Amino acid sequence: MSPSTTPPGAGRPVAVHGRGARVRDEQGREFIDGSSGAICVNLGHGVPEVLDALRSQAERITFVHRSQFAHAAVTELSEEILSIAGAGYREAVLTNSGSEATETALRLALHHHADAPGDRSVVLTQRPSYHGMTAGALAVSGHPSRRLGLDALLDGSSAAVPVSPSHPEGLLPDLTDWKEAFDRVGPDRVAAVLVEPIGGAASGAQEIPADVLRGLRALCDGAGALLVMDEVMTGFGRAGAWFAHLASGVQPDLVITGKGLSAGYTPIGACLVGAGVLPGRSATELAFGHTMSGNPLSAATALAVLRYTRERGLPERARKVGDVLRQRLSALAARHPFLGEPRGRGLLLALPVVQDADGYREHPLNRRICTAAEAAGLILYPAGIDRAAQSVLVSPPLTVDDSELEDLLLRLEAALETVGRTA
Ligand code: PMP
Repeated sequence: MSPSTTPPGAGRPVAVHGRGARVRDEQGREFIDGSSGAICVNLGHGVPEVLDALRSQAERITFVHRSQFAHAAVTELSEEILSIAGAGYREAVLTNSGSEATETALRLALHHHADAPGDRSVVLTQRPSYHGMTAGALAVSGHPSRRLGLDALLDGSSAAVPVSPSHPEGLLPDLTDWKEAFDRVGPDRVAAVLVEPIGGAASGAQEIPADVLRGLRALCDGAGALLVMDEVMTGFGRAGAWFAHLASGVQPDLVITGKGLSAGYTPIGACLVGAGVLPGRSATELAFGHTMSGNPLSAATALAVLRYTRERGLPERARKVGDVLRQRLSALAARHPFLGEPRGRGLLLALPVVQDADGYREHPLNRRICTAAEAAGLILYPAGIDRAAQSVLVSPPLTVDDSELEDLLLRLEAALETVGRTA
């Protein structure tokens, strides 16, 4: 390899093996995967049932193009996703990532309004938020650092209107902020509202309260706009239910998924399409899709992941284990003045970090915590678009067992002690 190449992961420990929540590097060091990779390895590493499905599909056929062949795994996966989602959805459009699922939702929202009079092209989104790295998804993301240097690409999208919180003590917009945004833009110009029910990378597990979600549904209904729920991080059990928005009783028009759908075993995402979005037409007929969308290998793997998740009751398990972990994190946070009360639901949890402006500018404390954790054998994920949102995601696999959990907490405690001495 030429010395000038910087492959992904350059400078990081070289992973060679993973089982459950434990990952080993080439020097034999063991890490607890306290963030499930990028909050996606929901079943832990090396689950035999998933590996068997992957291998047996690969041995039969890895790829056919959807314009040329149907495939049983693809059909069964679509049916499985629809049965998990419950009534009201007509189709699951398969993609290769969460970002592509966001793109699909944005396109479908615009197609939905294609025959409407006037210009219905505005997508209202939150700041902070993150919906993906492709241009459309990034254009609707309230995540300044990931947009950096891309103005030329993103400004072309007049569609995205980030709604910011107007109240200083909170971080997410409330219903008044949303109402003002509808009025400012003009309700008949709003194509869709796009939100994460519980934020991840951008907000550090901040949750939209159920009454705000219900209020958003009513605002969308009143304006004739679609409500799109981004469940890429929260979906398929992570937040203690199949989907995080279910507890609010709100029915979205489109649901974006990814990550936990294949639990990190293969790349895949999906956009669930509500029955009223394209009445009488199929979303796949609109020729959505990339070469690899809906490939049999990813579909068979995701199918095994969803069956495992269902058979083991992992959403419920995440809820119970998450309650315990949250209490333990709360006790830890009480001993360190630079930590706030943990937030999140199920096993999507975050420790908010408190730091003064100068310290944050010099070196955000959440990154220092992650570095100290890694040295102690624990992988965590730094989150938050700014000082107010800075946090550390603590989100192990939904299958995490007692010994893994105890090791996670011991190593976290050691890391916090280290940081505390210099904070
Ligand atoms: N939406 C949310 C809420 C996410 O957390 C992410 C990934 N972090 C995405 C979309 C984009 O998914 P992907 O990285 O698979 O493209």
